[in-house]
Amino acid sequence: MEKQVLPSALQNAIEHISNLPGYGEKSAQRFVENLLKLPKGESIETIKSLLELLEKIHPCKICGLLTENEICSICSSEERNKTTICVVEESFDAFAIEKTGKYTGLYHVLHGKLSPLEGITAEDLNISSLLDRLEGVKEIIIATNPTVEGEATATYIYNLLKNKNVEISRIAYGLPFGATLENADVFTLSKALEGKQKL
Ligand SMILES: [Zn+2]
Repeated sequence: MEKQVLPSALQNAIEHISNLPGYGEKSAQRFVENLLKLPKGESIETIKSLLELLEKIHPCKICGLLTENEICSICSSEERNKTTICVVEESFDAFAIEKTGKYTGLYHVLHGKLSPLEGITAEDLNISSLLDRLEGVKEIIIATNPTVEGEATATYIYNLLKNKNVEISRIAYGLPFGATLENADVFTLSKALEGKQKL
């Protein structure tokens, strides 16, 4: 067993942060280091904002988008086109699409992507509830990321929907392979939306 060198509160915080997917021990260390360097008031505000986040933010009951309300502002808006649903991996992908101002339909947030390597299957994702939302829907736009997992997820959703009475299209062509929607600029994302192709 490795000798415990770090004070236990430090060790404990690093362990918790590095348990988050995508955070290694190094990035957890950096986070803790930088937090401790902040003036006390600022670091407390940072932690308070995280606590507030946990308290107030949760997935929309209908689409899964992160919201402060039971139903998000997009699902509850009278202005949105309720015949189109855009399927994204994460809420931040939907927020990126919202920033383009080019999309007026609804969303469905999967909260991840299929990843056999990480043991993430369709049951782990917000996929099956999409089938309960098809009434009155004419088009499903699959906007998972152009990565290996994103494509596999898109194919899975296509197979799930292909016999339903709904048009299915795929965006993200035009985005470089391996890119993520969240990090794409508004122009590229607008073009990817305009260039959606029927599947
Ligand atoms: Zn919603």
